[in-house]
Amino acid sequence: MTTSFDHLLSTSLGDILNSMADSLVVISPHRIITTVNRATLNLLGYEEQELLRKPVDIIFTEETGFELTNLIHKNFVGHFETAYVTKQGRYIPVDFSGSFIHNAAGEVQGIVCVAQDIAVRKRAEIALKVSEARNQAFLKAIPDSMFRISRNGNYLDYRAAKGEDETLLPADLIGKSIYEVLPLDLAQQWIYYIKRALDNDDIQVFEYQLNTNQTPSYHEARIVVSNTHEVLAVVRNITDRKQAEAQLLHDAFHDILTGLANRTLFMNRLGHVVELAKHREDYQFAVLFLDLDRFKMVNDSLGHMMGDQLLVAIARRLEACLRAGDTLARLGGDEFAILLENLFEIEDALEVGDRIHASLAQSFNLNGHEIFTGASIGITLSTNRYDNPEDLLRDADTAMYRAKAAGTGRSQVFDRSMHLRAVTLLQIESDLRRAIERQEFQIYYQPIVSLSNCKIAGFEALIRWQHPELGLIPPDEFIPIAEDTGLIIPIGHWVLKESCAQMRQWHDLFPAHPPLTISVNLSGRQFLQPNLVGQIQEVLQQTQLDPHCLKLEITESVMMESAGVASAMMKQLQELGIRLSIDDFGTGYSSLAYLHSLPIDTLKIDRSFISSLDSDIEKMEIIQTIVKLAWNLGLDIVAEGVENKKQLAQLRALKCESGQGYLFARPMDKAAVEVLMTGEREQKKST
Ligand code: C2E
Ligand code: CA
Ligand code: CA
Repeated sequence: MTTSFDHLLSTSLGDILNSMADSLVVISPHRIITTVNRATLNLLGYEEQELLRKPVDIIFTEETGFELTNLIHKNFVGHFETAYVTKQGRYIPVDFSGSFIHNAAGEVQGIVCVAQDIAVRKRAEIALKVSEARNQAFLKAIPDSMFRISRNGNYLDYRAAKGEDETLLPADLIGKSIYEVLPLDLAQQWIYYIKRALDNDDIQVFEYQLNTNQTPSYHEARIVVSNTHEVLAVVRNITDRKQAEAQLLHDAFHDILTGLANRTLFMNRLGHVVELAKHREDYQFAVLFLDLDRFKMVNDSLGHMMGDQLLVAIARRLEACLRAGDTLARLGGDEFAILLENLFEIEDALEVGDRIHASLAQSFNLNGHEIFTGASIGITLSTNRYDNPEDLLRDADTAMYRAKAAGTGRSQVFDRSMHLRAVTLLQIESDLRRAIERQEFQIYYQPIVSLSNCKIAGFEALIRWQHPELGLIPPDEFIPIAEDTGLIIPIGHWVLKESCAQMRQWHDLFPAHPPLTISVNLSGRQFLQPNLVGQIQEVLQQTQLDPHCLKLEITESVMMESAGVASAMMKQLQELGIRLSIDDFGTGYSSLAYLHSLPIDTLKIDRSFISSLDSDIEKMEIIQTIVKLAWNLGLDIVAEGVENKKQLAQLRALKCESGQGYLFARPMDKAAVEVLMTGEREQKKST
């Protein structure tokens, strides 16, 4: 039997070899290539004659050659992975198998080398390795724990995120049931979401809380379906995020300084309570609106740091006055609000108020400073039936203002009339601002009469406000607001200028001896203006009125309150020739000795004394004393509010010189004054 492959190749076997997809090379025992097929030539880029009868090592790598030597040595059929070298010198990975051809004597005739190009497979394998390595790196970088869990809640596999395993997971989790590992309610939650994920073939995300070692931790689980009977759960520890969220939430609803609830939270709670009360007749609650007395003084004199410390200390004291369920809030500045829920009796709210007053009456010791403060408290009760929380707080605020106006350290319960008053006040205030430019003010003049002969000695200028909608508003209703808002300054200036100019005109029209005087009221606020004297001087110059004809009326209380400033200012006015009256005399507590030191010309005895003249002997005696005193001090007396002849007779008997009142004339407008004065002039002519 011949073994010539040349012969075989010449036959159909050659075609067969050439049609093989794998490389086939036959070499002699001396490693000389005797046969190559087409696949080999294609793979390595050689022509057939370039390889035939050449040493096989030109297509083998060193390693392949070495392996082959090994094979020949062992006379062993081999199969291994190695590489061929192309004509261009490139390495091509191959799956190599070599087999020996023996002759009849058993001698090696040649070796058949079959090699399969495995470059593609190799590349895929490498890519797989790389991606596996990358995935591992990814997994390491992901701060999540992962669990493979079966449909009925058994852990199949897991990978704990760094730091999670020791604290959260039992060492041998695999094979355990969720029910063994987690608390029952949480396990049920897990099973629910696992089923849902599997049933809907959809990702399920849920958050839960775990309490291990007493400190709660928060987790977010994402459940992804792997196949019909298992899921992959990715669990992330979100405790930090939850804590940050909780902090943000807390800050949004609390006052940073005191840690108390802020206005937003307070209104929120109040809103709930208002709703609750709508459905439950017997549900009673109260709101206390609290404003500190003298806080500004502390802030201004001891500084903001101290002010802040005081607020914190007050917050702690207020807390101590309340029950656990009550809400205490700082609304801003030195304002606090308290919501008392579930009151048994509405009087309990007043009791809490009393407790707070008592608590704040104790002084505070801050850095060695002893500080006294107190609070004014406005109280609204749910018995008023409210629709919304804003109204409640507003009314408590209104009541608080009332409490404050009555003095410090008081409580005041709100009633409806306060609201009406507050609303009108608010409207009046805004209208008042426009009244001057719209020329809505008018001056009425009330004659001041000499009691001995009933002749007109002068007039008191009394302002009136013709409000476009509310009609004529008396000064008692808007002067206090004008004082509060400072609008009294421009208004008072207008009255002064207007009435001085008017009197100057009347001097020409109705000359008299002594000339008619004009009395103008000055409010406390005006009186405190540093440039008041200059302003008055200017008005006198502009209007050309003789200063002796101007009388300024200042109430007793204003004079006492601004004592130091007052006396200096009054002396200056007196030097200008202006005369000064004390208005509403007898209503305050002036010390006559002090009054004596002031340059005053006239005492106007308050109407309350005159009106009780006919009935009250005691008042009569007081007036008698005042008149005597005035005589001694060289002061004129004007009796205010003389309404009837009996009063006139008594005043005459008391030797009171002047009077003013409805008996003689009501305050009247300019035209009416002129009619009156013309009548008097005619009368004088005819006598
Ligand atoms: P007042 O200065 O004590 O003015 C006297 C008030 O008594 C006037 O009230 C006058 O109309 C009223 N009156 C006079 N005679 C009688 C009487 O016989 N019986 C009764 N029942 N009342 C009498 P009016 O005009 O309502 O003014 C009230 C107060 O408003 C004034 O009290 C004064 O304090 C203040 N006021 C008026 N005009 C001005 C002003 O231009 N500036 C300032 N600052 N206050 C003013
Ligand atoms: Ca007056
Ligand atoms: Ca008066």
